[in-house]
Amino acid sequence: MEHQQLKRQVKRATFRDCGRRCVYCGTCLGLEHATLDHVIPLSRGGTHHPGNLVAACQPCNQLKGSQLPHEFFARYPLAGQNFMRFARAVHRQLKRGARRAVSLAYAQAA
Ligand SMILES: [Zn+2]
Repeated sequence: MEHQQLKRQVKRATFRDCGRRCVYCGTCLGLEHATLDHVIPLSRGGTHHPGNLVAACQPCNQLKGSQLPHEFFARYPLAGQNFMRFARAVHRQLKRGARRAVSLAYAQAA
């Protein structure tokens, strides 16, 4: 299969798995406004595996940048809550990590 075609297919599947939303802010997206985010960034050792991919809006993708998910969720616990809710197809260990980061952030804020 042609690379571009494969990429489009992966994007569409990820988009559908995420409920057609940005998993970080929960905004409903059109496919044309969705970007693919590597939950563990490629620059930090993440892979192209579907379990490491989510749909995100451009601003959230940019805001997250090259942060690891627990770093990002420590700063933006609401993004972590949305992630747990909408990123249904990601690796379980990523969800567990998100839950831990979110409860830690709220415990520290209390
Ligand atoms: Zn967003």
